[in-house]
Amino acid sequence: LSMPENLHKLFVISSPSGGGKTSLINKVFEDSRSTNFEKSISDTSRQKRQGDLEGKDYYFLSEKDFKEKIKKEEYVEYATVFGNFYGTSKNEIKTKYNNSNLVLELDWQGAYAVKKLFDDAKLIFLVPPSLDDLKQRLIKRNLDSSESIENRLSEAKKEISKSEMYDFLVLNDDFDRAFEDLSQILFKGISSKDFNSRVSKDLIERLVE
Ligand code: 5GP
Repeated sequence: LSMPENLHKLFVISSPSGGGKTSLINKVFEDSRSTNFEKSISDTSRQKRQGDLEGKDYYFLSEKDFKEKIKKEEYVEYATVFGNFYGTSKNEIKTKYNNSNLVLELDWQGAYAVKKLFDDAKLIFLVPPSLDDLKQRLIKRNLDSSESIENRLSEAKKEISKSEMYDFLVLNDDFDRAFEDLSQILFKGISSKDFNSRVSKDLIERLVE
């Protein structure tokens, strides 16, 4: 599946659930510099949440149909997150990546799988300033039960512990600053070597302990 002749770039963005990823990505696609960017839409077997749109947020499938597509090897990668299936279909990548830069919003398992297939892929991780900040966001968005919030927080730690494999760590303390950092990576094509990450090793250690 690697396409050496493809001049477009592939970006994977991950963050713990509630990390504010979706609003940042929405802002990216509202930006005039994003005309040659597309977002990969994943399949999922999870229930629609309030505000979720078919074909914009996800393609919503039954678990049975999802499993059927796994069998037919229609996924580039798929993973189970919070008991539901999520996957990127080969078809989605094929149709979009040839004509545009592509942004994939995946968990760490997906990021790992994509990096193995496309070694040029740029992996971006949005790091929350604290676990408490993450918790407040989850409470505020009001989509999860308190049990599910605790569950998401412990998953967040696990997710953050995988941040080492990412090329870019973006601190998501302030929306505008995080967006500016993302713009450097997506629109200006800054290299990971030149990127001035505001995430310290210390912060990562504190988050995962
Ligand atoms: P949510 O249900 O909150 O929209 O997403 C839950 C998690 O699944 C997020 O971490 C999101 O990045 C991840 N995710 C969404 N689509 C995919 C996908 O196609 N593959 C993988 N591996 N993870 C995904």
